[in-house]
Amino acid sequence: MLEVKDLKVAYGRVRAVKGISFTVDEGQVVTLIGTNGAGKTTTLRTVSGLLPVESGEILFDGVRLDGMPAHQIVRLGVAQSPEGRRLFPRLTVEENLMLGAFARRDRAGIQRDLARVYQLFDVLAQRRHQSAGLFSGGEQQMLAIGRAMMSSPRLLMLDEPSMGLSPIMMQVIMNTIAELKAEGVTILLVEQNAQAALSLADYGYVLEVGKIVLHDTGVNLLTNENVRKAYLGED
Ligand code: ATP
Repeated sequence: MLEVKDLKVAYGRVRAVKGISFTVDEGQVVTLIGTNGAGKTTTLRTVSGLLPVESGEILFDGVRLDGMPAHQIVRLGVAQSPEGRRLFPRLTVEENLMLGAFARRDRAGIQRDLARVYQLFDVLAQRRHQSAGLFSGGEQQMLAIGRAMMSSPRLLMLDEPSMGLSPIMMQVIMNTIAELKAEGVTILLVEQNAQAALSLADYGYVLEVGKIVLHDTGVNLLTNENVRKAYLGED
């Protein structure tokens, strides 16, 4: 579904992504793991069309995304739940969710997806008319994922959904991702929490300073000795 080929991305003269290639197949959860500054966020933002490609190709169902404006990429079915959530704190839950559907005209479909988000996240349904700014970190994360889902994406990209969450809240978010996967949503998951991400993922790529240093199935990476030492905090 998504094919990234030899992607390079730079901020001015500093190259943050140094020629990476990876694929996400339909129905899979694929994760990019790596420490701070490895280039994970940069990669997602580039796929979303928020950052320009220096060189390489990004293909979605064979269509070139690189060079395409971000709103058009959303229309093709690629949505991102950004790091740090970036909600509108003064707007209500429902208003934030509806912003995720900005590119759509199918009212019935929008209502169906809204119901689905509320079914998935009960707390959002209960507090639909409250301002998002009053929410806890975990609730805001649910709202950010819900908003991304409101564009009815075929590919959902999640940037560090566990960031800043308590272990319990993180488990709730990870369970939700597992539920979305069970529904057949294709997910590209960026995480610093390698343990959580690899436990969910069909396939994973390990990024270090802008390069992929290792890739394998989630299960194999979880048991890989180097990964365990470098990313899972084992000696
Ligand atoms: P994090 O978990 O902190 O988001 P990451 O793996 O997602 O880490 P990126 O945020 O993609 O990493 O950053 C990759 C590199 O690009 C880092 O060296 C970072 O300092 C640099 N970088 C990121 N954003 C900018 C920017 N706006 N201007 C200049 N350099 C940047």
